[in-house]
Amino acid sequence: MSRVTASSGLILEEPLLWEKGKKGRRGFSPPERDVGSHPLAEELTGDPPDIPELSEVDVVRHYTRLSQWNFGLDTGMYPLGSCTMKYNPKTNERQASLSGFTGAHPLLPESLCQGLLKIISETEHYLSEITGMDETTIQPSAGAHGELTGMLLIHAFHEHHEARKSKIIVPDTAHGTNPASAALCGYTPVPLRSNEHGIMDPEAVEAMMDEDVAGIMVTNPNTLGLFEEHLHRIADIVHAKGGLVYCDGANMNAVMGIVKMGDLGVDVMHLNLHKTFSTPHGGGGPGSGPVAVKKHLAPFLPVPRVVMGDDGAFELSSNFPLSIGRVLAFHGSIGVAIKAYSYIRSMGPDLAQASRLAVLNANYLKERLKEDLHLAYDRPCMHECVFSDAFQKEYGVSTLDIAKRLIDYGFHPPTVYFPLVVPGAVMVEPTETESIENLDQFVDALQSIAKEARENPDVLRSAPSLSKLRRLDEVAAARKPCLAG
Ligand SMILES: *Cc1c(COP(=O)(O)O)cnc(C)c1O
Repeated sequence: MSRVTASSGLILEEPLLWEKGKKGRRGFSPPERDVGSHPLAEELTGDPPDIPELSEVDVVRHYTRLSQWNFGLDTGMYPLGSCTMKYNPKTNERQASLSGFTGAHPLLPESLCQGLLKIISETEHYLSEITGMDETTIQPSAGAHGELTGMLLIHAFHEHHEARKSKIIVPDTAHGTNPASAALCGYTPVPLRSNEHGIMDPEAVEAMMDEDVAGIMVTNPNTLGLFEEHLHRIADIVHAKGGLVYCDGANMNAVMGIVKMGDLGVDVMHLNLHKTFSTPHGGGGPGSGPVAVKKHLAPFLPVPRVVMGDDGAFELSSNFPLSIGRVLAFHGSIGVAIKAYSYIRSMGPDLAQASRLAVLNANYLKERLKEDLHLAYDRPCMHECVFSDAFQKEYGVSTLDIAKRLIDYGFHPPTVYFPLVVPGAVMVEPTETESIENLDQFVDALQSIAKEARENPDVLRSAPSLSKLRRLDEVAAARKPCLAG
C-alpha cells in the first residue's frame, strides 16, 4: 500500500444515549423559578417520557464520535459517479442561514417576503438562462420529482392538443428514476439500446418513433459520462412525429455555461440543485429539482408562480388555468434555492470554468487509469468515466472487492454496477473540486489495488480491513435493518 490516508485509530465505540444515561445527570441548569407553582392538568400528568439524563460532556462526545463514523465531502474525495459529490462552498450555507430566510414562515403574506420572492424569481431566471429554456419552476423537490413534473407537463401538453399518446422512449443508459417517472405518469417506458459508442443512434430513434410516442427522455451528458452528440437530430425526429424531448439534466455539472440544452431541441428538463448548484446531498436532506421549459410548455407549469405585479411588487399567482397544479406544499425547497442563487451569483461566468475542470479531471483519471482498469468506452468523456472489473476477473476479484478496498486507502468508493449496460461497472466522477494531488493519490490507490489483485487477491476479497466495520451483508442490511443501533 502506498500513501494510505485511512486509519482506524481512535475511532471510538459509542452506545445509545439511553444506554449511556444515568439518573440525575444534567447538561443544563434552568434558572430558579420566579413564579408560583400550579398543578398540571390531569391529561399531562401520565408517565414521564423516557428521556435519557446526560451531562453536557456526555452529549458533546456522543455526537462528535458519531460524526467521526461518517464520511463526507468535508472528510475526503467522494468520486460517486452520477452523483456530483463536489465540495460545496460554506459561504452558500451562510447565506441560506441568514435569519431573515430561516425565520420566514411559508404563510407570510407576499408584502412581507418580497426578498424571498425576488430570490425565487431570479433563481428561476438564472436557471432558464443556464439551460437555454424560457421559464423555470423551482417547486419540485428532487431530480425524480422534477422528472415526474416534466412528464405531467408533457401529458398536459398533449391532452391540451387532444393528442392521445402512451409511450415514452428511454435509453438503456438512463437512471432508474426515468422509466419509473414515465410509468408513474401513466406512460409505458420503451427502452432504446445505446450504440457501440455508448450514445443514442438517430436511426434507432427513428425506427421506434410513431404517433403513439409522447416523447423521449434523454440524459445529457448520459450516465456513461458521454455527450449525446446526435441530440439535435434526434429532437428533430421526435418533433416531426409530434413527440416532445425531455432532458434529464442531473449531469449538468459537465456543461454549465457551455451547452444550452434549449439550443439542442430540448422542450423540458430538470436540474438537480443538490448535485450541481451547491447543496450537499446523500443524507436524505432536502433537495431541489427545478424544471425548465420552452414557451409552449410554460402555461402548464405548477402554481403558484412568482410573477411581477402591476405595482412592481412580486406576487404569487395561481392564475394559470392550464397549470398541472401544485407538485409540493408551499414554494419548494427554499433553502436549497438560496444556496443555488448564492452559488450562481458568486461564480458568475466561472460556472463554465467549473464544468471545464470537472471534465478535465475525469479525463485525467481516465487516461491515467486505463492500463490498470478496463475502460468501457475508450473515447473522451465528460464529467465521469466508466471502468469495469474485466481485467481483474481472472484473479477472482470483482468490482465490489475493488470498491471495498478503496475504503482502506481512505477513499469513498465510486458508484458500482451502474450503468447496467457495462457489466461490473466502476463509475468515477471526481468533480472540479479535487486538486491534482488528490487525483494522483486516488490513481495511486487504484494502481496498487490492481497490483494487489494480481499478487494478493485475498486481501481484496476480505476488504475493507481498516474501517470501523468490515464487509457488511448488504442484502441483510436492506432486508433486515437493525434500527436499534
Ligand atoms: C441523481 C440522478 C437522478 C435523480 O435525482 P434525485 O434527486 O436523487 O431524485 C436522475 N437522473 C440522473 C441522471 C441522476 O444522476
